[in-house]
Amino acid sequence: MQPVNTMIKEKTAENKWMKQKDLFRPSQYYKPASISEALSLLSKYGTAARPIAGGTDLMTEKDSEIKVLIDILTINLSYIKTSPRGLIIGATTTFSEIENSPLLGETPYDTLAYAASLIGTPQIRNMATIGGNICRPSPCADTAPVLLVLDAIINVDGPKGKRELPISEFFKGVGQDALEQGEIVTELILPLFPERTGTAFIKKGRVAVGDLSIVSVATCLIMDEQGRCKSVRIALGSVAPIPLRVKNAESFLIDKKPETKLLEEVAAVAVEEINPISDVRASAEYRKALSRTLVLRALQEALVKANQFKNKNEE
Ligand SMILES: Cc1cc2nc3c(=O)[nH]c(=O)nc-3n(C[C@H](O)[C@H](O)[C@H](O)COP(=O)(O)OP(=O)(O)OC[C@H]3O[C@@H](n4cnc5c(N)ncnc54)[C@H](O)[C@@H]3O)c2cc1C
Repeated sequence: MQPVNTMIKEKTAENKWMKQKDLFRPSQYYKPASISEALSLLSKYGTAARPIAGGTDLMTEKDSEIKVLIDILTINLSYIKTSPRGLIIGATTTFSEIENSPLLGETPYDTLAYAASLIGTPQIRNMATIGGNICRPSPCADTAPVLLVLDAIINVDGPKGKRELPISEFFKGVGQDALEQGEIVTELILPLFPERTGTAFIKKGRVAVGDLSIVSVATCLIMDEQGRCKSVRIALGSVAPIPLRVKNAESFLIDKKPETKLLEEVAAVAVEEINPISDVRASAEYRKALSRTLVLRALQEALVKANQFKNKNEE
C-alpha cells in the first residue's frame, strides 16, 4: 500500500498532464484598428484564430484549439442608429447599451431592450455583446427569438466581401451558424414596422434573474384596421437545437381576429413544432407545457401593445 500523499501526488501529476493537453492558452492577442485589419488577421491565422468581443462566452468555453484572439471591441462597432432601412445596431454593442438606448424605447424594438435587460447580471450585460450572443449559437441565446420575430438582417464582412443574411438563415445547429471561415458579423438591421405592430418577449429560467432560459418566447403581431392579424411571428428559444419560428402556428392566425380561444389553439399548435430536450434545467415535458402557456401570454401581450401603438398614433 502506498502512503496517501504519494497517491495524491500521482493523481495530481496525471490530472496536470491531462489539463496541459487540453489547455486553453491563446499565445497571441491582437487589437486591430479596423475591420479590414481584423479580417486579414483572421485570414492569416485561420482556424487557430477567433474574434473576441465581451469574452463572456469565449472565456467560459475555453476551446484549446484557439491560439490567437482578435479583439473586435477596438474596431468601432458599438452603436445604435437610425437609417432609412430601420435601426442599425453595431455587433459589439453591449446589452447595457441596448437596454438603456432611447432608440429602443418603444414597440416593436422595446422588446429587444427588455430581452437584453434579462441577460445574466449587470456585470455580464456591461461586457456581453449582441454579436457575441448570436455568434456562439446557443438554443438559449436570449436575443435570438426577438431578432427572429423582428426579421433582423445580419451584416457580415469577410474574405469574400460583405454580405447580408436574414436572421432566419443564420442559426444552423447547436454551436453552428451560417458564418464562413474568417467572417465576422458587423451589424444587425432591425427593419421598419408599420403602425399597429406589437411585440413581446417572455423568458423563464429556474430563478427570476441571472439564469439561462428554460423556455423563451418572442412574438410580433401586425394588425390591420379591422383588428385582424396581418402578420404573425412567433419564435421560441431553448426548445430545439436552434432558436426557431413556429410557422404552422403563425399561419393559424393570419387574417383572423385574435380571440382568446383561437390564441389558445395557436399555442397548442406551436408546441407540436418544438422538440425540447430534458436537461439539468428542466424536463422536455415541462418545457412543452411552459411553451404553451408562454406563447399564449406573449401573443396576448403583443396584441395589447399593437392596440396601444394604434391608439397612441391616433390621439
Ligand atoms: C454568468 C453568465 C450569465 C449569462 N447569462 C446569459 C443569459 O441570461 N442569456 C443569454 O442569452 N446569454 C447569457 N450568457 C452568455 C453570454 O453572456 C452571451 O451569449 C453574450 O452575448 C456573448 O457575448 P460576448 O460579447 O461576451 O461574446 P464572446 O464571448 O466574445 O464571443 C462569443 C463567440 O462569438 C464569437 N463572436 C463574437 N462576436 C463576434 C462577431 N461580431 N462576429 C463573429 N463572431 C463573433 C466569438 O469568436 C465566440 O466564438 C451568460 C454568460 C455568463 C458567463
